[in-house]
Amino acid sequence: MKSWSCRPVPQLPGTSSAPRVHDTSTGQLEVLQARGGRAALYVCGITPYDATHMGHAATYVTFDLLNRAWRDAGFAVDYVQNVTDVDDPLLERANATGVDWRELAASQTELFRTDMTALNVLPPDHYVGATEAVEWIVPAVERLVERGLAYRVPAGTDQDGNPAPAGDVYFDVAAAGELRAEDPDAWVVGSTCRLDTDRERMTPLFAGHGGDPDRTGKHDPLDPLLWRVERAGEPSWDGASLGAGRPGWHIECSVIALQHLPRPFTVQGGGSDLAFPHHDMGAGHAYALSGEPMAEHFVHTAMVGLNGEKMSKSKGNLVLVSTLRRDGVDPAAIRLAILSNHYRTDWFWTDELLEQSRRRLATWREAAARPETAGADAMLQAVRAALGEDLNAPAALIAVDAWAARNLGGAAARGAAASDEDVALARHTVTALLGIEL
Ligand SMILES: [Zn+2]
Repeated sequence: MKSWSCRPVPQLPGTSSAPRVHDTSTGQLEVLQARGGRAALYVCGITPYDATHMGHAATYVTFDLLNRAWRDAGFAVDYVQNVTDVDDPLLERANATGVDWRELAASQTELFRTDMTALNVLPPDHYVGATEAVEWIVPAVERLVERGLAYRVPAGTDQDGNPAPAGDVYFDVAAAGELRAEDPDAWVVGSTCRLDTDRERMTPLFAGHGGDPDRTGKHDPLDPLLWRVERAGEPSWDGASLGAGRPGWHIECSVIALQHLPRPFTVQGGGSDLAFPHHDMGAGHAYALSGEPMAEHFVHTAMVGLNGEKMSKSKGNLVLVSTLRRDGVDPAAIRLAILSNHYRTDWFWTDELLEQSRRRLATWREAAARPETAGADAMLQAVRAALGEDLNAPAALIAVDAWAARNLGGAAARGAAASDEDVALARHTVTALLGIEL
């Protein structure tokens, strides 16, 4: 499906080195090096049943920083993002509101694109809907069944105890884990998020993030759904030997990534709530299909709350980017508020944070409106160093603050080195690396 537009990225003098970023699979900072000069990024997209909230926005802005840091290091970046445009929450919302699920998905995806353009997030090269990937998912699931790595369950009851028909296909985590006997790099359940010895932690995470441990007939409670056979009143696609139905969530991302990115690709990214089961099971599917690890690194963003509380649909306290924009908030101030928090620390949205960010943006713009400034090269190096060390946006912002303060401090503070080239370099640095237009 069509992606979104964004403003051009200015070229900066020199290049930075490949960034070091925290990898969930090793628990350490790792250098995110590109192979053959190309970095490949997959970030899980939205389920378009609701507008973009601040948690989504923070995730996509974080991976936008990584995208920009890689480009600044001289790498080409292949970026893929999906849209889960058919899934239980979307169908439930469509039913509850009496809107056709396709219309709901299309309108919310469009709103998301508009939000991303406003936040100056570089678009993915491939923006792929689950419904566009069914034709690749069906043969992938068939292959897993043929190889004994997936199986059909008999009729029984689902997670909620309701009758469930025969034929749903599940991934066999135990059978897939046996592949490690031949390859030490093979996936086992939990291996991408350092949970593989801890079933007590995996089971509640699985149940809390779309899994169905209590579905009857499964070999292992942690086995995830690959193909859901047709139910009355639900959309379905031709599943060839699987029968009509629709895909599970993890296989959607694995197959889209395998279709568009090299194996392994450089980074699988998303919110920390996706680490298990979504990214881990997706990596398991991809290994089972390709015989190679899915991604070299797994990077996750922390959660965003509101005024000290968890932000959730059920609490009715979602902060939506589109609502702030409608209220006249400059999207650059929203982006700056996000960047003033480190991506690995849970944080809260507050009016105060937005107000501080507005003031900060106004200060930067006031400095950039001077005919001559000084110190932009030092600022560029400081911003590069900050982003190169675990995408430390708060430190990068402090470097820009220092440049602005120096240049608003009067001619004496700017010194003899002041020039109009310096203003241009400062603007380009802040735009290219932080995505903020001054
Ligand atoms: Zn995904």
